[in-house]
Amino acid sequence: MTLSFDVDAVRADFPLLETEIDGHPLVYLDSGATSQKPRAVLDAERDFLERANSAVHRGAHTLAAEATELFEDARVTVAEFVGAEPEQLVWTSGATAGLNLIAGALGYAALGRGGADARALAPREGDEIVVTEAEHHANLIPWQELAGRTGARLRHIPVHDDGTLDMRAAADLIGERTKIVAFPHVSNVLGIVNPVAKLVTLARGVGALTVLDACQSAPHLALDLPASGVDLAVFSGHKVYGPYGLGALWGREEILAALPPFTTGGSMITTVTLDEAEYLPPPQRFEAGTQPVSQAVALAAAVRWLGAHDLAAAHAHEAALERRLREGLRSIDGIRLLGDTDAAERVALQAFAVDGVHAHDVGQFLDSRGVAVRVGHHCAQPLHRRFGLTASVRASAAIHTTEAEVDTFLDAVSGVRGFFG
Ligand code: PLP
Repeated sequence: MTLSFDVDAVRADFPLLETEIDGHPLVYLDSGATSQKPRAVLDAERDFLERANSAVHRGAHTLAAEATELFEDARVTVAEFVGAEPEQLVWTSGATAGLNLIAGALGYAALGRGGADARALAPREGDEIVVTEAEHHANLIPWQELAGRTGARLRHIPVHDDGTLDMRAAADLIGERTKIVAFPHVSNVLGIVNPVAKLVTLARGVGALTVLDACQSAPHLALDLPASGVDLAVFSGHKVYGPYGLGALWGREEILAALPPFTTGGSMITTVTLDEAEYLPPPQRFEAGTQPVSQAVALAAAVRWLGAHDLAAAHAHEAALERRLREGLRSIDGIRLLGDTDAAERVALQAFAVDGVHAHDVGQFLDSRGVAVRVGHHCAQPLHRRFGLTASVRASAAIHTTEAEVDTFLDAVSGVRGFFG
């Protein structure tokens, strides 16, 4: 079957895109923060709650069996979305929770929990954890905490002025002492696709664990996490057209098998006495407590919905949006782009600063034209500091964004300095 990409048909799946803001058609350019949800996702969650809602696993009744099947089928579907096996996919409440799970479990491993295999993965005093200067705080603070708990040193790979990673510095930094290398697939400020294979080669060369933050790539790029060479990865459901409150952590089986649990309680054990507990194997070992069942069903619907499109054509559409966005902004006086490079692949996400106008004022001005963008530090304060800024404006497109919407946005940005002049 040959599929082609029809942006109008895609848009028709999103009820919210019909919204008007102050008489203007909504131009939603904040998908990097959270994506809008297609009707298939809304229907899947409501349908589950109306027809099959029940607690999963262990229930002796028909509904519990049906809910369990839907929940575990969702795991299969979402695992396939990232090229993985279901046993390797742990539900989390989001990418932040996934990264805290990894760093937290490694912290327990450093204390001896999980035994020798876990201990071997954990940093010790004098070891190093390497991140990039372009991290979202979610992939920075958990590592700061782990370094603080273990006596490891946190180091960072700097970014060049054009936003690309300084790979020469990376090669110098990643050495015998490096225990963990954590990095974003795509920066949520720069939109640049980082050189995963090169970073993995450097990390593997010294036996370091690699952790990929795939939050901003999952909605835009085809992911094959096992083939990528990384050891662990996370993403958030609400950024891939799915619901809030659910994300996934993917890990190589031997690593998940070695790690001790981070959160503990119901649903993750085999035997419990008053003194101790034995744990289920992954992924359940990491899924303590009542699980986000309707959300998992809805996320599976989201990735099925996405997969029903011709993704190569969608990718080409988004690449054209990226060029239009960046070139358009470049041509407006007084605009400074963050991560303006042709030397790397990019997604259609562009942060910028307007000379003499605060990002919040820009955001409000654009909102008055119906254009929704993100303003602030985007949870990346160190990166903003690197560029001498405290805040920027970020426009981020999605599969449903049209070229006409990008033009409306550019037209509105052209008026900012005149208005605040
Ligand atoms: N990492 C990146 C690159 C992000 O863009 C985000 C969200 O903005 C996160 C991590 C955190 O995701 P969540 O807030 O869904 O846990």
